[in-house]
Amino acid sequence: VVCLHDVRKAFNLGLANETEVLHGIDLTLERGEFCAVMGPSGSGKSTLLNIVGLLDRPTSGSLRIGGEETGALDDHALTRLRGHNIGFVFQYHNLLAGFTALENVMMPMLGDATFFNDGMAQRAAALLDSVGLSKWRDSRVTELSGGQQQRVAVARSLAMAPPLLLADEPTGNLDTKSADAVFEQLRKANREHGMAVLFVTHNPLLAARCDRIIHVVDGRLRSYA
Ligand code: ATP
Ligand code: MG
Repeated sequence: VVCLHDVRKAFNLGLANETEVLHGIDLTLERGEFCAVMGPSGSGKSTLLNIVGLLDRPTSGSLRIGGEETGALDDHALTRLRGHNIGFVFQYHNLLAGFTALENVMMPMLGDATFFNDGMAQRAAALLDSVGLSKWRDSRVTELSGGQQQRVAVARSLAMAPPLLLADEPTGNLDTKSADAVFEQLRKANREHGMAVLFVTHNPLLAARCDRIIHVVDGRLRSYA
């Protein structure tokens, strides 16, 4: 699904001051693989996810998504590729506060002809059901707990049935029980839909329940099989 080769990322801090924060990442993520990403704060995990998620471009190296080399694509093509292939869940869920759970899950489908149809609401309802929130379908997201909101975000990330899901500390702000519930929903979605997942976490217990753990240390990968 995803293949990185010698990916580097430097940030330009002005005055000819460049810092490289990813120093040559090689990583292959197979279809359906649920991979934990661990590592100290500032080691480059979010930078890596932003690059894999086509939210930022690498300074050098190759990134293939679904077999397509992304380096030569223009921004428009990247946006299309992202929309069709990648779902996101962040630490702060970025739900739209004035809208209901159902409306939030429908949101990504609005701009896409494949999903923009009469079945949208049913599809969104089924996704909410699958994360255990059917009762809260018509509640505004501001009325839900943090854990419930994060499950809405998980349902929303699945709206476009992406083959790749990127989750950057989705459980970072949650108590143990809610974190567990959100993780279980991600795991279940991964089993049912077979999408590959990159899951950033500082929690070793959750990481141990993934198929594989990669460690980012000072912008490099250390993987222990
Ligand atoms: P955390 O666990 O705290 O979320 P992280 O592993 O996600 O940390 P990153 O956010 O990827 O770490 O940051 C890696 C390094 O890159 C840090 O030193 C950070 O200051 C730097 N960095 C990240 N984004 C930028 C940016 N837009 N401009 C300049 N430096 C950046
Ligand atoms: Mg981060």
